[in-house]
Amino acid sequence: MKSDSCLFCRILTGEIPSTKVYEDEYVFAFRDINPQAPVHVLVVPKEHICCADAVDESNSVYVAKCFEAIAKIAAAEGLENGYRVINNCGEDGGQTVMHLHFHLIGGIRLSDKVV
Ligand code: AMP
Ligand code: ZN
Repeated sequence: MKSDSCLFCRILTGEIPSTKVYEDEYVFAFRDINPQAPVHVLVVPKEHICCADAVDESNSVYVAKCFEAIAKIAAAEGLENGYRVINNCGEDGGQTVMHLHFHLIGGIRLSDKVV
């Protein structure tokens, strides 16, 4: 299921260009347009799931596949010294694109931890 009005669904169809770093049956990953670290990749399910709050037993395979992809991308990007995975959910979480995504950030010692 894709949403015509969703930015990341439009990236998934190729309507909006992106710099792809990984793709499989479940997952698409591309470079963030406003990187916060030397490596900043957005890992996105190929199903339109709005946010972490909408994950349930019918779609959680996409989340598992995102994390399988994260391990592969981290290795391919040379992040053997570590990295951070961030999901912002909803208004209070600061989510700006309402299509579930995981920020994979690394390539530098990350300092500004929330937890
Ligand atoms: P969030 O604030 O967690 O919803 O993250 C949305 C992310 O999408 C931000 O880090 C933006 O920089 C990024 N972003 C927005 N538009 C694009 C785009 N066209 N291509 C790549 N990244 C984008
Ligand atoms: Zn979408």
